[in-house]
Amino acid sequence: MRKFTRALLGAAGATIVAIGVTGCATAASGPADGLNVVTTTTQLHDFALNLTKGTDAEVTSLFQPGSSVHSFEPTAADLEVIRTADIVVINGMDLEPWIDDTLASAGFDGTVIDASEGITPMGTDDDDDHAAEEDSDHEEHDHAAGNPHIWTSPANAEIMVQNVAEGLETASADNAATITSNAEAYEAKLADLDEWISTSIDQVPAADRLLATNHDALTYYNDAYDITFIGSVMPSWEDNAEPSVAEVNDLVKKIKESGVPAVFTESQLKPTTAEAIAEQAGVKVYSGDDALYTDSLGAADSDGATYISSTIHNTEQILDSWGATVAEVPASLTETN
Ligand SMILES: [Zn+2]
Repeated sequence: MRKFTRALLGAAGATIVAIGVTGCATAASGPADGLNVVTTTTQLHDFALNLTKGTDAEVTSLFQPGSSVHSFEPTAADLEVIRTADIVVINGMDLEPWIDDTLASAGFDGTVIDASEGITPMGTDDDDDHAAEEDSDHEEHDHAAGNPHIWTSPANAEIMVQNVAEGLETASADNAATITSNAEAYEAKLADLDEWISTSIDQVPAADRLLATNHDALTYYNDAYDITFIGSVMPSWEDNAEPSVAEVNDLVKKIKESGVPAVFTESQLKPTTAEAIAEQAGVKVYSGDDALYTDSLGAADSDGATYISSTIHNTEQILDSWGATVAEVPASLTETN
């Protein structure tokens, strides 16, 4: 597909590119008709579903609800899904260091959309050593030091949606008008979401907006709403390292000194260590149904079913920990998204 686009764009324009897409899909042995879109994360899956409403596109997610996004071993079925895809949408910002090898193994010949394009990376909040180490491990990616959890701020989500929309429009001229109008509608909802979070959080003095979580996933959300991150149970933004005794003691001390009222677990992580730390520090722990949706959306019947509903849930829980209640959720955000 990428080859078709490159070869034909200059001379021919949209119609021939569309024929190129059709030819690609027909040649593949997967679902034959329409645009086959594969996304890595559950958030991107939700964005792509919203963007392709009313089109013939089929969207498949590599990550399943409730999974960690910090490791991925593709199955044979995953590779087949990728091989027959026209488009693979990635988060970027080095969240998927496995993507190049995986696309090569699958023999993927389509277009990659990097949803992070144009987003300014932020570092980790408390682990510069680890970021530097990551950087030297992935010398080919000069953006490797950035915290990759970019979607947690709705303003970033709008940029991601715009990037995905533009990529899909380019790949599928037949669907471009529908995708454009879907993008406008969904971006308007994200703007409503951003405003609602600001209104809700503005009730709490900035000095009292303190947060401790299971891992450092909310950097962009915290930055957007002037929330101070006290620390996380996992010693880095990756979620596969258990803290040492010294790190646990350090976090307990930070919790007590800062006056942060709670520790939040996250739906995709085991709550055990966070619960122990909260108990040791004498603060409340939010886990189970009250855990935050960070790296992954939740099951279809949960509060975390969509990006919008999961972000509403997170904001409600965080405000609850501060003894406050969210503003009324606007109607545009309570319909099915
Ligand atoms: Zn994460």
